[in-house]
Amino acid sequence: MALLINDKIRNLTPYQPIAGNFSVRLDANESFVQPDAAIQDEIREALMQVDMRRYPDPYATKLCECFAALYRTQPDYVTAGNGLDEILSLLIQAFLQKGEKLLCFTPDFSMYQFYTTLSECVPVALEKTANFCVDLDAARTVAKQESVRMVVFSNPCNPTAIGMKRADVLALVKATDALVVVDEAYMDFYDESVLDCVTQYDNLIVLRTCSKAIGLAGARIGFAVANERLTALIRAVKSPYNVNGLSQAVGEVVLSHADYLHRARKEILASRNMLRDGLQQIAADFSTQYQMIGADANFVFGRMQAAQDVSTFLQQQGIIIRTFGDYLRVTAGTLQENDAVLQAIRMFCEERGRM
Ligand SMILES: *Cc1c(COP(=O)(O)O)cnc(C)c1O
Repeated sequence: MALLINDKIRNLTPYQPIAGNFSVRLDANESFVQPDAAIQDEIREALMQVDMRRYPDPYATKLCECFAALYRTQPDYVTAGNGLDEILSLLIQAFLQKGEKLLCFTPDFSMYQFYTTLSECVPVALEKTANFCVDLDAARTVAKQESVRMVVFSNPCNPTAIGMKRADVLALVKATDALVVVDEAYMDFYDESVLDCVTQYDNLIVLRTCSKAIGLAGARIGFAVANERLTALIRAVKSPYNVNGLSQAVGEVVLSHADYLHRARKEILASRNMLRDGLQQIAADFSTQYQMIGADANFVFGRMQAAQDVSTFLQQQGIIIRTFGDYLRVTAGTLQENDAVLQAIRMFCEERGRM
């Protein structure tokens, strides 16, 4: 007897981050900022207090309170998850039934379509305009025509690093009966959040993560923010102990340090500006080779015909970035890391320019 594997997973392959030993990792949009020694001591102390024999708080109450205080919302509107990835997967599983449609935009975070298909639902992918914006009229029309039950997008967008204005996001929320999930993984770098609007709409969920600006990608902490009715449903469908005790402890400490997080964000923004200006200069000097597209996050997105070749060239020098076809996404890193990647891309363009 042979085990029969169903159609929806038969041809899937495990997610493989780029393997190898790279000294400069600018591929995953993580933070490069380390908490200072005093905060690190506090983290160690908090970890030692965790009783590992016991299950953690199923609602990560204290963690949600710390998040709510930092982002000026109410703990009643906040649910924590094992990273945003878990929350995305959960929302799609729970709020859509088999065969129902989800509207997303391309290019955008690829996991939206992945989880939709895995839930036996149907992604309707509306292509963005030539300058990578969402066509709001088209979105409204498609949402209606296709009777989509959910709309999801990242703002600012990963990978394009283009942000959408708050007024445009709210216009979309108002224009549809579908549940609108706004993934604000990078909103700490852009400032057009709709997090404060969750109680004004019955169809809005805002997502935030500790993996990017907060610098805790390894702890896997994400949040869904929504009105009480939606929050009750999210809490009802999540698995009981979805955020482990160690992560709750670390998250509580870090989210309580508003001053540190403020400094960290400023440091990351300064790095992003440096990277953006450097790439802008490369775009000016080698306009046929590289064009910048967006920089509204902690990474910069651009077009490069030789994206795959430059990526290989960078890897040979121990530098890793992300490519998407003819596009490059470079995460803002330390001064030295930014220098290294800018120099290497410039060198590549100079070589090509002579060919
Ligand atoms: C990184 C990222 C996530 C995943 O965040 P985790 O909390 O690390 O799972 C979700 N959405 C977008 C747009 C991201 O870039």
